[in-house]
Amino acid sequence: MKNLCDVFGVTKEWANGRRIEYLIDKCAELKTEIYFARIEFKQDIANGVSVMDRLFKWYMADIPLLEKQLKRYGDELLFRLKGGDFDNDLDKATIDKAREIPIEDVYPELKGKFIKCLNPDHADNRPSMYIKGFAYCFSCGKRYNVIDFVMLKEELSFNNAVARIMGDGYGHMG
Ligand SMILES: [Zn+2]
Repeated sequence: MKNLCDVFGVTKEWANGRRIEYLIDKCAELKTEIYFARIEFKQDIANGVSVMDRLFKWYMADIPLLEKQLKRYGDELLFRLKGGDFDNDLDKATIDKAREIPIEDVYPELKGKFIKCLNPDHADNRPSMYIKGFAYCFSCGKRYNVIDFVMLKEELSFNNAVARIMGDGYGHMG
């Protein structure tokens, strides 16, 4: 894998600065989104909205996922602010090893579950993506391996997705 900084003729410091700005914006955005979703939920309780309707909204807003994303972006931001470097090139053996790991090893809570399809072009209101090693959507037919899946689910770069799959032993990538 080529170093993108060299390809585009920018310094690592410059790239790191851009990423930090992005992460700050992203964290602020997610925090606001979570904040308002929670307020709406409380207001609905006060207004006597039915449990099913509230659960449906909660599910659609996917607050747990937003919170996970916030944590991940926040962790990366802190790591970068402390001078950490995410941009080490990955060797092929590590990538191959990561690819072998079943999705449910990364997300034990998803084991044997149907989830909302991760295909951005498929509004999957009734979850039809099944996790069994890889992920497969019974509606649109998309299939994702563990690396694609983690990249989409957590909006991570390829490198950071591999690091996430390989766990804390593989550097600290948030
Ligand atoms: Zn789908």
